[in-house]
Amino acid sequence: MKRTVLLYLMIAGLIVSSCKSPGNKENEELVSLEGRTMGTELNVQYIDSLKRDFSKEVDSVLIEVNNSMSTYIPNSLISIFNKMDTAGTLEVDRHFYQVLLIAKEIHRESHGAFNPALYPLIHYWGFSGGTAPDEIDSSKVDSLLKICNFDLIHGTMAISGEGDTSYYVTKDDGRAQLDFGAIAKGYGVDAVHDLLRSRGIASLMVDIGGEVRCSGVYTDGKAWRIGIEDPIKSTVNSKKAMQVIALENKAIATSGNYRNFRIINGQKMVHTINPASGYPELNSLLSVSIVTEDCTHADAYATSCMVLGLEGARELISKNPDIEGMLIYGIEEGELEYWSSPGFKEITLKD
Ligand code: AMP
Ligand code: MG
Repeated sequence: MKRTVLLYLMIAGLIVSSCKSPGNKENEELVSLEGRTMGTELNVQYIDSLKRDFSKEVDSVLIEVNNSMSTYIPNSLISIFNKMDTAGTLEVDRHFYQVLLIAKEIHRESHGAFNPALYPLIHYWGFSGGTAPDEIDSSKVDSLLKICNFDLIHGTMAISGEGDTSYYVTKDDGRAQLDFGAIAKGYGVDAVHDLLRSRGIASLMVDIGGEVRCSGVYTDGKAWRIGIEDPIKSTVNSKKAMQVIALENKAIATSGNYRNFRIINGQKMVHTINPASGYPELNSLLSVSIVTEDCTHADAYATSCMVLGLEGARELISKNPDIEGMLIYGIEEGELEYWSSPGFKEITLKD
């Protein structure tokens, strides 16, 4: 497959896909596509008796998504929006608009823990293309926090007399900027999933850096099996699964802070920013895996839980009947504990 050489999120995969390797008779109809997108690995598998190659179409949809929402591409729609230094409106595409709407929903549901308007602070702390400061300037953090207000950003839609739909995003203050780093990977997974479904593929698995969505079943007639990475025993090159789950017509996303962090003045600064304080949020949670209908929601909820911490995350998952989750947290140096919601336990294959 031609590689999609677009940089996006510099976070490695947090989930190991554990399915049988193709080659035996059972797997004759299994097609596997591999590549890179959004700064991480792409792995797509689907069952097709015609063994059609959809790699070009998968590539183009991911290029479209990246050109819309990657802050690493200088002329992407999100970069153009972020560079607008006065209040105003920009015409965007349906990808941007859909992600903005879901982001608004999850911002509300997470009581502000999920906040894609944090870009100025994310950049300040050295993520999303920014350079970490040598010293922490608390007055700078406070002043940036004031403009990281998602209520300053709105999406609108218009339908013309001919039935064409246009999408717009408006900022009320020129300093407001967006970062979809906690949601766009999940959206990319959904975009590839929907493309393959529209081509008549019933059984498929799409994995972008550990954000996964499955439809139908694997070649053995059983649900796709997805491994959840052990945050302590795994390394970038050697992934160890802590648990394996059976995923049927659902998505899973995992957020963690054990791999993507900066050291500032000897202090570990993780890439999850707490919108209440403006500072990186380091709590006992090492990783959160969320299972829900689609990967866009799963991705954003996983990040929300990392911000909320163990108790807040447990409450968010328990209150919402549409999401299931597993939280891995540290109790003592090097010792892990985990909590799974009842629905998550039901799909867990091995403890
Ligand atoms: P994820 O790996 O999905 O948890 O996404 C982490 C990325 O989301 C970070 O690298 C930031 O770009 C962005 N981010 C950090 N904190 C937040 C937050 N509180 N709300 C939304 N996005 C965030
Ligand atoms: Mg996320």
